[in-house]
Amino acid sequence: MRSDSGQTDKKGQGTLNNMEKVVFCEMCKAVRAFTRCLGCGIALCENCACDVVKTSGHDHVWSISYCPLCIIDPAVNPDAEPVKGKA
Ligand SMILES: [Zn+2]
Ligand SMILES: [Zn+2]
Repeated sequence: MRSDSGQTDKKGQGTLNNMEKVVFCEMCKAVRAFTRCLGCGIALCENCACDVVKTSGHDHVWSISYCPLCIIDPAVNPDAEPVKGKA
């Protein structure tokens, strides 16, 4: 039992300061944004973003994010459900 060869791979871990400037949600302006609206491009936080899961074919699934305004705008989101009462 000898002393282990100390393989401490200490590279400069400067990940904390590598972020770009923080972008805040442009809807509530209170929370850090994590995505952008696909329609108008404003920054959105998790609370304000409306995720839409798209599927194409069998295995092709992806999600996109809209702001609360674009999510219900058929001109922006072709899959927007009519907000008015059911037909
Ligand atoms: Zn927000
Ligand atoms: Zn939008």
